Amino acid sequence: MQKNNLTRAERACPVCGGRSYRPFAEERIDPLKISNFTYASRKSPEFMCLRLVRCTECDLVYAPTPPTTDVLSAVYAGAGYDSAPEAQAAARSYARALTPYVARLAGRNAAVDVGAGSGPLLPWLGECGFRPVIGVEPSRAAIAAAAESVRPMLREGMFSPALLPDVTVSLICSFMTLEHLESPGDFVRTAYGLLEPGGMLALVVHNWRAPLNRVLGLRSPIIDVEHLQLFSPRSLRTLLVQSGLTSIAVQGLTNAYPLRYWLRLAPLPSGFKERAHRLLDKLGLSYTEMPFRVGNMLVTAVKPATRGR
Ligand SMILES: [Zn+2]
Repeated sequence: MQKNNLTRAERACPVCGGRSYRPFAEERIDPLKISNFTYASRKSPEFMCLRLVRCTECDLVYAPTPPTTDVLSAVYAGAGYDSAPEAQAAARSYARALTPYVARLAGRNAAVDVGAGSGPLLPWLGECGFRPVIGVEPSRAAIAAAAESVRPMLREGMFSPALLPDVTVSLICSFMTLEHLESPGDFVRTAYGLLEPGGMLALVVHNWRAPLNRVLGLRSPIIDVEHLQLFSPRSLRTLLVQSGLTSIAVQGLTNAYPLRYWLRLAPLPSGFKERAHRLLDKLGLSYTEMPFRVGNMLVTAVKPATRGR
């Protein structure tokens, strides 16, 4: 396969700054299919994507010509929201996977969940003893859908130190967010700056090198117009190491979701899916949760307790 170099109109690799890449996917965008739900989480896959390339330096798959920051802020602020049971199920999966890492973390100052949605993870963070618990979320619809008890913990906006003045932060979580950000490097540097020494960053991202995603190829749900980059274990480590974080641990993640959600993601003809949905409803199984390893990874990393790297 040919190796290309960036043209002037293209951005460098947003993880390592590399300027050579190999083609990964051609742009597939159908303007008629773009809706409020295109930028919502856990929607039905549309199999649309920006043009994607793979960095030959760090293995990141990324869009060299993403939409502008203004466009991204606007689409996320107005993103639709219709996934409450799935959001709860995802939060339980993340909590289960994070429990042993949180147990080893000494600090119990603030916990911040970035891209918190309607805040399903926040009560669990409170139970772990973090004070205060804060969710950062750009979508107004997601905040409006939050439970009464959770809504006061949510702050509307994109992640920035300005949203979090005067808090000492022990834990920053961000699950399925990094793919959507214009600069994952800025995100991790901001997180590093906010964390107290010894504090932990915990991320969940898709792994484009996971066997299931390789088998599905361009029919994988990770091929999505919202994703400005897709990580592999190597590109994720590169991102964290260059920000000065240490004790980096990457592991596969098991997600438990209701059956109706797995069916929605499955690359099957829509007529077949509709019949299967009706069958699940009839059998009362739509909300039964099933765990699968679908090629997501959890990574934790720690800010060194002493200054320097
Ligand atoms: Zn790179």
